[in-house]
Amino acid sequence: MPQQHSDSTEAVSIHHWYDSDSKPLSITDGDDATVWDEDGNEYLDFCSQLYCTNLGHSNEAVITAMEEQAGKIPYVSSAKRSPTRDRLAEKLARITPESLSHTFFSVSGSEANEIAVQFAREYQDAPTVLTRWRSYHGGTYGAGALTGDPETRATIERHAATSGAAKFLPPIPKAFDTSDPKELARVAGEHLEFVIRNEGPDSVAAILTEPIAGTSGAFPAPPGYFDHVRDLCDEYDILLIADEVITGFGRCGDWFGVQTEDIEPDMLTFAKGVTSAYAPLAGVSVTPEIASFIQKNGFDIGQTFGGHPMACAAGCAAVEEYSDGVIDGVADLEEKLASRIQQVASKHDVVRDVRGRGGLWAVEFADPETKTSFYDPRVDDGQNPVAAILHECRDRGVLLGSGRPNFQIIISPPLIATQPEIDQAMDVLDDSITAIFG
Ligand code: PLP
Repeated sequence: MPQQHSDSTEAVSIHHWYDSDSKPLSITDGDDATVWDEDGNEYLDFCSQLYCTNLGHSNEAVITAMEEQAGKIPYVSSAKRSPTRDRLAEKLARITPESLSHTFFSVSGSEANEIAVQFAREYQDAPTVLTRWRSYHGGTYGAGALTGDPETRATIERHAATSGAAKFLPPIPKAFDTSDPKELARVAGEHLEFVIRNEGPDSVAAILTEPIAGTSGAFPAPPGYFDHVRDLCDEYDILLIADEVITGFGRCGDWFGVQTEDIEPDMLTFAKGVTSAYAPLAGVSVTPEIASFIQKNGFDIGQTFGGHPMACAAGCAAVEEYSDGVIDGVADLEEKLASRIQQVASKHDVVRDVRGRGGLWAVEFADPETKTSFYDPRVDDGQNPVAAILHECRDRGVLLGSGRPNFQIIISPPLIATQPEIDQAMDVLDDSITAIFG
């Protein structure tokens, strides 16, 4: 006899990611950068939910495109062709770095990264992929194993073997004990070469990296670092895969983070912003050589919902919206955000660092006397003051993101956020830090 279900009114959808806050918000409505919960409370969404609603919550063009596609045909097998899917692939070929021409569509960023790694291993006939400590590439078995963030890895490693993923240190001052950008780029590049040689260059299929660390702290690389990385890939015949799941579609200024770094990757993975999160869509854009290798060698994998036509319709409309002034406006957003965040930071001696680019910023906190981070790994007993700042902001009507590790917060509004919204969000952050730290 099946057990009788309880008639409890508690929600039965299990929310993702651990949060010391046992009652996450239940969000019912949205308009541009504002959302409302089920009790009618209003919030400025300064984390774009999960760094993905780049165009805000009420873009008519994207909604209409999805409705039109639903009216024509909502779904077409991913093993067949769909004009909407082809149209988005063509648009992507125009906006991605010149090296990339073809796109294999998927559903989530985690899956896109796993597919890119499968392509790389097959193409290179080599087993290992290098990724950075303090990176985030996803939460499925494969993508979780590639991730350098300790909380995600610990969760994955409890269940799965994680072979074939070796790690290197990110180009951040703490890792190399220098904050001189030129020196940092040099020593971090040397370190990466050491890791490649230590693994054995022939065994390394690819380096998978975020151009700007996302949830792990919004670290832009020092100038010149990515030139080293590209040179090393060329010298040792390693593919360079850019994980642009967060940084893509204007989040960090250009269409893609690698364009700001002026390097050409061999593959680029994307998700989140491609549809401004109006529908789940992800993909891997690859060079013509890799595309032809995959096509000729009959790469026999697929996903039912990969490149879902309604998501591709949303993607086509979103790309047009981004082209229509949104990407060009990110430089201005960066200036406004940076200046207000710095202003708040300068008032609080618990702020250790502010960094970021475009619409992706981190504020890191540390004890002003001991200089130690408020690091509170995984088991958050509710005492972490940085989590308390986030909760305080939420109670005052502003949503911000939690960094990994959680001694930092991430600020990442829709790219259409206005100066009054930025002012309001930063005033709330200021008051919330005062409320927690005095
Ligand atoms: N890569 C990066 C850089 C991410 O930030 C994320 C998610 O936050 C992922 C991959 C995984 O994407 P998804 O959550 O869609 O699986």
